Amino acid sequence: MPKWVAHCHCGMCRRAHAAGYVTWVGYPAGAMRLTQGADNITAYRSSPPASREFCRTCGSQLFFRHERYADEVHIPRALFEGDVGMEPKAHIYFSDKVAWMPVHDELKKKGGASGLEPL
Ligand SMILES: [Zn+2]
Repeated sequence: MPKWVAHCHCGMCRRAHAAGYVTWVGYPAGAMRLTQGADNITAYRSSPPASREFCRTCGSQLFFRHERYADEVHIPRALFEGDVGMEPKAHIYFSDKVAWMPVHDELKKKGGASGLEPL
């Protein structure tokens, strides 16, 4: 069971995934075990406290880790084919949302300087 599921509108996610926003599933870091393909994953620092990992063959973004959430690994919702046991609960970094990606739902909106302040 994930800890949370949320839509992120930050510019770094938008560019890394080439998408209007990215839906993330947050898991405890220890809940994930990579069983194959580790030698085909490249990690890079997308900002000083954060790293992103992607597949060297197809380019899919795989994992996001951040010093602020050192006990978590974030996995794009789109990589899961089935139910993850939780629906998205909020939009985060909503202040950075692009105008061309309309959002018409009742989920909580968070943003501001931290990206996580209630709006
Ligand atoms: Zn983001």
